[in-house]
Amino acid sequence: MSYKLNISTRKEALIKLLDEIIKRENEIIQALYEDFKKPPFESIATETSYTISELKNTIKNIEKWAKIKNVFPSILNFPSTDYIVKEPYGKVLIIAPWNYPFQLAMCPMISAVAAGNQVVLKPSELTPKTSTIILKIVSKAFLPQHVKVIEGGVDVTQKLLAKRWDYIFFTGSVAVGKIVAKAAAEHLTPVTLELGGKNPCIIDETANLKLAAKRIVWGKFLNAGQTCIAPDYILIQEEMKSHFVDYMKDEITKAYTENPKDSPDFARIINEKNWHRLVSMIEPKKVIFGGQTVIEDLYIAPTLIEENNLDSLIMKDEIFGPLLPIITYKEEKELVKIISKYEKPLALYVFSDDRKFARKTILEHSFGGGCVNDTVIHFANKRLPFGGVGHSGIGAYHGQMSFDTFSHHKGIVKKANWLDLNLRYAPYTNNKISTLKKILNWL
Ligand code: NAD
Repeated sequence: MSYKLNISTRKEALIKLLDEIIKRENEIIQALYEDFKKPPFESIATETSYTISELKNTIKNIEKWAKIKNVFPSILNFPSTDYIVKEPYGKVLIIAPWNYPFQLAMCPMISAVAAGNQVVLKPSELTPKTSTIILKIVSKAFLPQHVKVIEGGVDVTQKLLAKRWDYIFFTGSVAVGKIVAKAAAEHLTPVTLELGGKNPCIIDETANLKLAAKRIVWGKFLNAGQTCIAPDYILIQEEMKSHFVDYMKDEITKAYTENPKDSPDFARIINEKNWHRLVSMIEPKKVIFGGQTVIEDLYIAPTLIEENNLDSLIMKDEIFGPLLPIITYKEEKELVKIISKYEKPLALYVFSDDRKFARKTILEHSFGGGCVNDTVIHFANKRLPFGGVGHSGIGAYHGQMSFDTFSHHKGIVKKANWLDLNLRYAPYTNNKISTLKKILNWL
């Protein structure tokens, strides 16, 4: 069944969606709190306001993004007019994770709708309250044949993956990303895979340590470290380490008090399984700050870990929690060796006042995206592509790139009839060959 919607119908539905989200913002914030004590400020900044801003930007630009785009024709086709048509893929499956459960479900859905697709959205089963509110909002704003929310666990996702789709957009772990890619390959379905990885955070001897600590504490302990682009481990010049650790302790205490467990600004681990996974990574003798855990409350304190073994459990996979290993290096050349031990990360951060070093670091390593002298904030610019490379993902989105992700770009040549050059037609004489060569050499 083809389900094509004109731009004004898409826009109307998106305006209705905006209205519903604004009306229910407090319910969304409450649902996020009930799911994993997500602090209201973080819910506003990273979930509701972010989604509203992306939605408003889409509504404002939808006509411009959907427009047929003329491009310069090729001299070989003279005379012609050439253009690109953006066509909806058709039926799109969006699978969302639990860590930013509202935003990471809604934003891809908004762009898929803007681009003219039908959508089935599968929110995460690990954030049931948020999943319910997503279902309520979507069923108010869209007809079920336009956007449908299907709730459920792994079995439901597997059933959905067994069906044929025109596009699959997945956000989640590398392991499940591979399952999605395999299922998509069965029907040659194109995919976007937004995955994770071990994100290095490099600090050299020229860095402003106090400010670096403040920005790292924010980016690491936001959402209790359960952020795909959170710094995963610190690589710091040996002599700077003790000063840096002092600043980090100071900044953690300033942000979350002496007892982060009682701070309303520090979230919880999503479930017992992840709590145990994280706690098993803590080697008590390596803890230099924090380390407290309370299973009943799914609490793990912001924790700094002195790490010197690249093969330890904590250095094996993405941490995805409030544990931060600090590794020292003596010479710059060690950085390449350490970073390239792991798959290409989703993010990389470098703190340095040495512009040459910062630039070299950015160019030298392959990673999804990142920042110089900050963490996480590259996510907020809709003019920057957001996505991974290698094991951290396939494809990128945000802003207009999201609309383009969900559109097939159809290239068209509209040939004029007032002239029909004879060059390309047989018989292929020597004269024609030499003219063709001249034109191709000239192009
Ligand atoms: P996950 O891969 O466990 O789950 C994501 C989705 O996949 C859920 O909806 C779940 O129902 C489904 N799923 C789980 N196991 C499945 C299976 N065996 N077969 C089929 N479907 C299955 O990921 P998560 O725990 O929800 O999220 C955390 C991960 O997501 C981290 O690795 C993080 O880095 C990554 N992430 C990436 C981004 C990004 O933008 N690149 C954003 C957020 C999270």
